[in-house]
Amino acid sequence: MSSHKPITAIKGMNDILPPDSARWEWLEHVVRQTMAAFAYRNIRTPIVEHTQLFARGLGAATDVVEKEMYSFEDRADKHGSADHLSLRPENTAGVVRAVAEHNLLYDGGKRLFYMGPMFRRERPQRGRYRQFHQIGAEALGFGSPQIDAEIILLAVELWRALGIGNWHLELNSLGQPGERRAHRQALIDYFEAHASQLDEDARRRLHLNPLRILDTKNPAMQALVEAAPKLVDHLGEASLRHFEQVQAILRASGVACRINPRLVRGLDYYNLTVFEFITESLGAQGTICGGGRYDYLIEQLGGKPAPAVGWAMGVERVLELLAQEGIAAPQPAPDAYAVLPDDAASPQAMHCLQQLRALGVRVQMHASAGEGLGSMKSQLKKADASGARFALIFGADELAAGQVTIKALRDGAGAQQQQPLTQVQAWASGLKSAN
Ligand code: ATP
Ligand code: MG
Repeated sequence: MSSHKPITAIKGMNDILPPDSARWEWLEHVVRQTMAAFAYRNIRTPIVEHTQLFARGLGAATDVVEKEMYSFEDRADKHGSADHLSLRPENTAGVVRAVAEHNLLYDGGKRLFYMGPMFRRERPQRGRYRQFHQIGAEALGFGSPQIDAEIILLAVELWRALGIGNWHLELNSLGQPGERRAHRQALIDYFEAHASQLDEDARRRLHLNPLRILDTKNPAMQALVEAAPKLVDHLGEASLRHFEQVQAILRASGVACRINPRLVRGLDYYNLTVFEFITESLGAQGTICGGGRYDYLIEQLGGKPAPAVGWAMGVERVLELLAQEGIAAPQPAPDAYAVLPDDAASPQAMHCLQQLRALGVRVQMHASAGEGLGSMKSQLKKADASGARFALIFGADELAAGQVTIKALRDGAGAQQQQPLTQVQAWASGLKSAN
């Protein structure tokens, strides 16, 4: 017996266990189908990247880069220099790096999606974790407002396919860099005139990135931020036209949106369209998906200039919303449970199970903690608890006669029957075509 203290998972990093993991798999399945419906293709980039990618990509004065990244120095290589690396806090920068590095846009725009874990050292709470998961869609190499609308409609279709109705869409335009500069100066003037009301974070950001102040979560600053100069008043004709076209498409698709001039998003790389899908059901962590256009990021990361737009969705929050709305994911149950009353019969039985699985039948084999397999009665009890529709009973006598007993465990699954082993494959095909 060991007296070691048990090792636990890291705070804010969760195990995803069955039966809960089935909800994750179902969500991922629906996402793959929806992405295919919009012709978005899967991309997988590394979880660890050079810290510089995020510092340059996300903006050095963002919460994520300033205080939330898991960064470390790699071991020095044989030339003595060590790399500064970070666990990815988001995946747009990684996707953009990969797209530029492999010149993916050489023959036109690309529609991409990813799913996977992200890491941010935030205070763990409901809907906020240190390892969390995002599903993201990115359309790179397309500049027209139709694509902004398409990628928003992609998320809307995802909510429909998942059965989520409790959300609203907030939309804003951040304009172009020149327009933002004029707005930035107006913001600095305004916040300087109200310097006494700024918290420490805001004071530090005033000249670094005043737009970030609008993203504050400090309740004491909400009124001040509410009355700050609005970017829309600094937008030029082209930006306004882009914004209007996105809204026109959404209107025609029956997607309502609220224009929120305070919506700036937490990362620096956005321009023109930004948006968030918000639910009222999750309290403070109500943003389930956020994104926008980032036409200058590719160039900023050293690629050939190309426009792009994308979003990322928080998987934990969406799953919590699904649970709250009582939307149950299908739980996987085996088609059949193999009961093995006689040890000696298992080689022949297991050979048969292997053939059934190759035919697409999902078979759970009985197993027990000790040496023996247990009584027929206890095995049948397990078979019932497994949720399987049938028990396949491989008794020694039956096997000797070249037979297996198929026992229906659920209503409507038919009566008990003995089948010759040679017929089991036909039974399996009948089972699959009836499904
Ligand atoms: P928030 O304002 O809630 O901190 P954010 O603006 O930092 O969100 P993004 O970087 O836009 O979030 O990420 C997109 C989505 O990922 C969010 O809308 C949210 O659903 C999810 N998300 C972000 N951070 C976390 C986290 N720490 N834990 C769980 N989900 C998260
Ligand atoms: Mg955040």
